[in-house]
Amino acid sequence: MSRAWSLVRRPTGLPTAGNFELIDLPAVPLKEGEFRVRNTWLSVDPYMRARMEEIKYAPCFQIGEPMYGSAVGEVIETRNAAFKVGDRVYHSEGWREEAIVDPSLGAKEGVAPFVLPDLGVEEQVWLHNLGIPGGTGYFALFRTAGAKAGDIMFVSAAAGAVGSAVVQMGKARGMTVIGSAGGPEKCAFVKSLGADAVIDYKAGPVLESLREAAPEGIDVYFDNVAGDHLDAALACARPHARFAMCGMIGVYNENQPLELRNSRRIIQARIRLEGMYFGEFADELPVFYEDMGGMIARGEVRSVETVSEGIETMPEAFIGLFSGRNTGKMLVKL
Ligand code: NAP
Repeated sequence: MSRAWSLVRRPTGLPTAGNFELIDLPAVPLKEGEFRVRNTWLSVDPYMRARMEEIKYAPCFQIGEPMYGSAVGEVIETRNAAFKVGDRVYHSEGWREEAIVDPSLGAKEGVAPFVLPDLGVEEQVWLHNLGIPGGTGYFALFRTAGAKAGDIMFVSAAAGAVGSAVVQMGKARGMTVIGSAGGPEKCAFVKSLGADAVIDYKAGPVLESLREAAPEGIDVYFDNVAGDHLDAALACARPHARFAMCGMIGVYNENQPLELRNSRRIIQARIRLEGMYFGEFADELPVFYEDMGGMIARGEVRSVETVSEGIETMPEAFIGLFSGRNTGKMLVKL
């Protein structure tokens, strides 16, 4: 018998434990082409909050059905010659102990199932710096924002999964990096990743702190938060600054429209704001694996994780993302 988390009611505002239920999955025989995985690591990600609502731009979790998301584990049974018993694999049937994976369905969450290549990293790194968070940081920074050596780059939620990758990649590629995070410990962590300056957004207004940290303004803003961070970045943007609009965790649990005091700066400074969606870069993943694999091998990018033990802890690990319980990537270990 294997267990999975299911959504029992859609949340309004911040989700609570009552939105989730741990259900038993029936034992189902494999069909031709499928394989069965015993999951070892499961990912919780802020974007899953959007999957809990009935949204139009992406599929949502169905009430009473197992939820899903990135996971790694070991193949324990197979009817697919490309996936052998004992292989360590990445797939998208997370939020559960055992998964049946059908690779013919392709990329359910932006990445198709694959056997983990031997890049000399621990397997959970495929859920962080070599997974969706690292890939999001990589493509949003270098492609969406076109960030390059010499740029002054500001990144919010800099102590998190995406943010910690962005800080390190920015430094590895010759940028001046300013990161924001909540509280002195998180800020010390961001500094330890190499950031030139850090902003504790819980200690005072972001705009004042950003003006102090970047007196000459910023060329690139990597947005994970929106709200006051986005407003401050607009105010400090240099002419032709580029904004990678990656996430808006500051407003995911709000129903209010996003208000920006400094929106006029978009025209005054000819700022380019571009939304980024990781799934659109699926064809370019080999380039990412090679480039990011190199940065990891050279010690330029390291993975820091906050680990929650046991499937029972998964909802609280997920909810903890919204109060900053994690430093680096939040993971659940089975
Ligand atoms: P994460 O940063 O590891 O975890 C979330 C962090 O956000 C928390 O640790 C917390 O850090 C911070 N936070 C929470 N509420 C906040 C608030 N109200 N104001 C400011 N900071 C707040 O999560 P992640 O997986 O790396 O994701 C980061 C962002 O990227 C999210 O917005 C996510 O949706 C987005 N994303 C987008 C894509 C895409 O394709 N566009 C793909 C993946 C992720 P503090 O303790 O510092 O507050």
